[in-house]
Amino acid sequence: MVLTHNLGFPRIGGARELKFALESYWKGQSSRDELLAVGIALRRRHWQDQAVLDLTPVGDFSFYDQVLDMSETLGNLPERVHGFHGDALDNYFRVARGRSAQSAEGHASCCGGVAAGEMTKWFDTNYHYIVPEFTTDTTFVLDATRLLAQLAEARALGVNAKPVLIGPVTYLAIGKAKDDSNRLALLPRLLPVYGQLLKILADQGVEWVQIDEPILVTELAPEWQQAFEQAYHHLKNCRVKLLLATYFGQLLENRHLATHLPVAGLHIDVTGGREDLTLLLDLLPEHKVLSLGVISGRNIWKTDLNGVLDWLEPVAKRLGERLWIAPSCSLLHVPVDLDREDAMEADVKSWLSFARQKMEELAVLAQALNNGRASVQSALEANRAAIDARYQSPRVNNPAVKAAVAAITPELGHRHSAYARRIEKQAAWLKLPAYPTTTIGSFPQTTEIRQARSDYKAGRLDEAGYRAAMQAEITRCVREQEALDLDVLVHGEAERNDMVEYFGEQLDGYAFSRFGWVQSYGSRCVKPPILFGDICRPQPMTVTWTQYAQSQTQRPMKGMLTGPVTILNWSFVRDDQPRSVSCYQLALAIREEVLDLEKAGVRVIQIDEAALREGLPLRKSQWRTYLDWAVESFRLAANGVADETQIHTHMCYSEFNDIIASIAEMDADVITIETSRSDMELLDAFDAFSYPNQIGPGVYDIHSPNIPTQQHMEQLMRKAAERIPAERLWVNPDCGLKTRQWAEVIPALKRMVAAAKALRQGA
Ligand code: GLN
Ligand code: ZN
Repeated sequence: MVLTHNLGFPRIGGARELKFALESYWKGQSSRDELLAVGIALRRRHWQDQAVLDLTPVGDFSFYDQVLDMSETLGNLPERVHGFHGDALDNYFRVARGRSAQSAEGHASCCGGVAAGEMTKWFDTNYHYIVPEFTTDTTFVLDATRLLAQLAEARALGVNAKPVLIGPVTYLAIGKAKDDSNRLALLPRLLPVYGQLLKILADQGVEWVQIDEPILVTELAPEWQQAFEQAYHHLKNCRVKLLLATYFGQLLENRHLATHLPVAGLHIDVTGGREDLTLLLDLLPEHKVLSLGVISGRNIWKTDLNGVLDWLEPVAKRLGERLWIAPSCSLLHVPVDLDREDAMEADVKSWLSFARQKMEELAVLAQALNNGRASVQSALEANRAAIDARYQSPRVNNPAVKAAVAAITPELGHRHSAYARRIEKQAAWLKLPAYPTTTIGSFPQTTEIRQARSDYKAGRLDEAGYRAAMQAEITRCVREQEALDLDVLVHGEAERNDMVEYFGEQLDGYAFSRFGWVQSYGSRCVKPPILFGDICRPQPMTVTWTQYAQSQTQRPMKGMLTGPVTILNWSFVRDDQPRSVSCYQLALAIREEVLDLEKAGVRVIQIDEAALREGLPLRKSQWRTYLDWAVESFRLAANGVADETQIHTHMCYSEFNDIIASIAEMDADVITIETSRSDMELLDAFDAFSYPNQIGPGVYDIHSPNIPTQQHMEQLMRKAAERIPAERLWVNPDCGLKTRQWAEVIPALKRMVAAAKALRQGA
């Protein structure tokens, strides 16, 4: 008998119940008991949704973040949140969200001014976790309350529970030593706490515990490999069976290490390739369970069940009872329930599978393996029909797009002249002062803007009314920028609710869900658009708005586009062709838009690549390949323009050291980046590389409501000028202004322009 299990279920709720419960609790509009009740109801429902499983994950539910939960279980919440009023839940949220000294919902005098834990991306997903904090003095004290309560709850409902933990090595690896000490030195202190926890679970009669060590799919330094040996030898006598779970990639060089650790079972992700599996079948000691992640926990496509069975059946024969099957990773990264999608096109919908549907797929696979394919014949046939329809659909396959991608040549990505020549031609017509000023694109998204957009979508406002409302916003935005005396203007992006969705909605090959929410962090969710087919741009997407904006001013108007790599990285993408091919298709569509803008007289064009860095593979050895096609995609999108047209790009992050060569290869005339919080130090990377083109290091941190002083911004620019020749510097905020209020933006930009003017005088 093949056994089925799951590594984790989305916890936000099909209707985002958890989000709304949290936000209302944080605002003081609902009680703590009400919040706890929502948690109980969601867990119950999610266990029901997984009723087909032999073993069900427990402890994967979290009110904010599973890593923060683990920190709490290990008694490792930062010192600074303790000693205030309230209980464990208050402390927990204090780490999750911090409390600002100014707002603090009436807590300024007690627990005001507590900094939130740092947040960072969970491996290569778009989920963000709260980074565990360590110092040399960190000690750990077990607090099993949460886990035991959930275990009891599950059992009361008759759930065959498999508690889920983050493993000790991954826990240390994804954390940060605040004092730069060696966090591995904490392992001997950490392991006994894991030991105690496993003992308690054994005493509870738990048979299997899932212990997540995704760090095993990354390149591990020798001391981290050793930490695995140390950790699992320490835990080997615990009386529960450990299922060591790895996911988000293959083990590769860590195969030997992973298979020989003294645990009862190993879970591997086989959705990205089966090289691990082939070798593991021989490597894995005879007594161990092998759990195969055969259904992607990262994307939303129906699994090709017949295709999986073709290779899985022989494996099942060979492994017998030792084979388990599951999704590749926790389903945290996919939406909850496709059945909710009442407005999606029927064909696209029939190709998809969200968390609940993935549970059904798993059940069909298990049935087929245990009782023969005939026992689930109709399900398998329906699955085959859907998969075939998808591959044959003319909405998926557009020969013209395929031909265009096949015809790509390197020349398409080359500007006519080198930067030095281009910048002269651009300067000749732009006539910008030293330290030119600009902004990153969006201006405040006011309630009126949102209202107009939702009225338009709902049909309460007609097209002409909507156009008039947006044009009025654009005009206002242009007037404000002229009054501020900014040099290169933007139209303000009033018509966009999201920088990816806006383009996806206008491209063929994209579909949208109504409820396809995926947790990004805490109560925040994103609804990634679904890239399902060959991408083509039936008509211009931004030209009319930008042209209108340009008609309102004599100053240069900067066209504003999202780049192909960012669109790709923030979408659910196809699994039937390499990511690079989807990216090239997007690049060609954006290229057409760039050329249309240029034709319409827009001669400064910004192409945002906010998510280029996010797409880096987990293994450094694979970076080169990704960066090659990512950079090539940007170049294809951007570089078809004449020398006189100035290409800007924007990247809102502050780590460029390891990718600076690729950034330079993009060859944008101007790059604006996020530096305001790093005191310009990140420019060292550009300096050391002798980055040749122009740079706008953000001087105004738009993430904070604080209005920076002119002096501070001047100081930052002086620091910048120590690293980059002044004639190549721009002055700008570090990201778009859409989340800010006009009342904050105006004074901040006034000071920013004043700072630039002061610098010009000094120059
Ligand atoms: N142009 C976009 C804006 O200003 C850029 C946003 C981003 O980089 N995340 O909103
Ligand atoms: Zn940005």
